[in-house]
Amino acid sequence: MNYDVILIRYGELALKGKNRDQFEEALVRSVKSVLRSFFKVKVRRNYGRMYVELHGEDAYAVMERLKRVFGISSFSPTVQVDPDIENIKAKALEMIRQLNPQPRTFRVVTRRADKRYPIPSMEVNRMVGTHILRAIPAISVDVHEPEAIVNLEIRTEGTYLSCETIPGPGGLPVGVSGKVLLLLSGGIDSPVAGWMMLKRGVTLEAIHFHSYPFTSERALQKVRDLAQKLAKWGGTVRLHVVPFTEIQTQIREKCPEDYLITIMRRFMMRVSERVAANTKAKALATGESLGQVASQTLESMDTINKVISIPMLRPLVGMDKIDITDISRKIDTYELSILPYEDCCTVFTPKNPVTRPKPYLAARFEEALDVEALVENAVAGTVIEEITTKPKEAATDLF
Ligand code: ATP
Ligand code: MG
Repeated sequence: MNYDVILIRYGELALKGKNRDQFEEALVRSVKSVLRSFFKVKVRRNYGRMYVELHGEDAYAVMERLKRVFGISSFSPTVQVDPDIENIKAKALEMIRQLNPQPRTFRVVTRRADKRYPIPSMEVNRMVGTHILRAIPAISVDVHEPEAIVNLEIRTEGTYLSCETIPGPGGLPVGVSGKVLLLLSGGIDSPVAGWMMLKRGVTLEAIHFHSYPFTSERALQKVRDLAQKLAKWGGTVRLHVVPFTEIQTQIREKCPEDYLITIMRRFMMRVSERVAANTKAKALATGESLGQVASQTLESMDTINKVISIPMLRPLVGMDKIDITDISRKIDTYELSILPYEDCCTVFTPKNPVTRPKPYLAARFEEALDVEALVENAVAGTVIEEITTKPKEAATDLF
């Protein structure tokens, strides 16, 4: 079957007024940005529907990419047909016939948005249904749980026929919820946390702390590769790479060993808060999950949070590791995350980190350090990289 357009549906029920406009505009932008470098297609929207006109491009290749556009609830490969009823009947039959496996039951659903069309929708359903029943002896109609639904939309701008509905990822289009700065390590959790934030419509930037030469170039490359996996869902991800060696070295020299992790994390927060302010991010996000490791107790979260006032989001806080791991496989970050490269936390892991740190003790131990100068230097040394998904070769497009 040669499809003409992909019909895109989105969560219209929950949307009203201004929100709806923003949602639709952001969705158009997202759809264009995932398709534009790869295909010569045209994206347009019309009264609560969005269409990707294929102009000969492969529908399945385009749909592979739409599966990664948040805000889409479902989509259907669609043919645009001449609205003449005989033609509709013939095309509907052709569509059913090419389904694999062949459905045993079906129903026809017609939406006649163009009221000038002479035949009422119930009548269209009946005429098309009868035509299919006569042509395929093994098939029958089931209005409650059909194996296939022939969808016909008669609209002023065209008549559209489809019979496959493929689920989209749901969520909100990237960009509608403002910007969040993700603390991205090389582990399993933080990329998943980033993906969950993208799903809620944020524009994502990432910050990574590295301690060269204690951590290697390939450990940093791994983080870039993870950011690139996220970019497949979120467009460009800006990565802020912070030099953390000086801070870690000073902490290790001057602070008690059981508080190393706590104090290190407090520095990560301070630097992240400044970088967030510079880049206009409204919140930070981490991959922390309550109780997972020593630094993820409530006391620890409190002691770490005490040094910042920007909101801290923890999308994984109530999740089990196994569920987090499932998502990481699904979004294709797992294999990268388990590569055994050292990161700044593993390099400095003390034997007995405190599990219930006290804010006043952390603050007292930090008196041995020039906190402000250390933070300022780290922010000043931060390098920004634009991480994008690069097409193999750039294509011109019709946008
Ligand atoms: P992850 O699997 O995401 O590495 P984790 O289970 O190893 O998490 P921690 O080491 O306690 O847990 O880190 C908690 C969170 O702190 C991480 O999810 C991440 O958001 C942030 N973080 C840790 N190390 C770094 C780093 N080097 N750069 C940026 N953020 C980091
Ligand atoms: Mg980690």
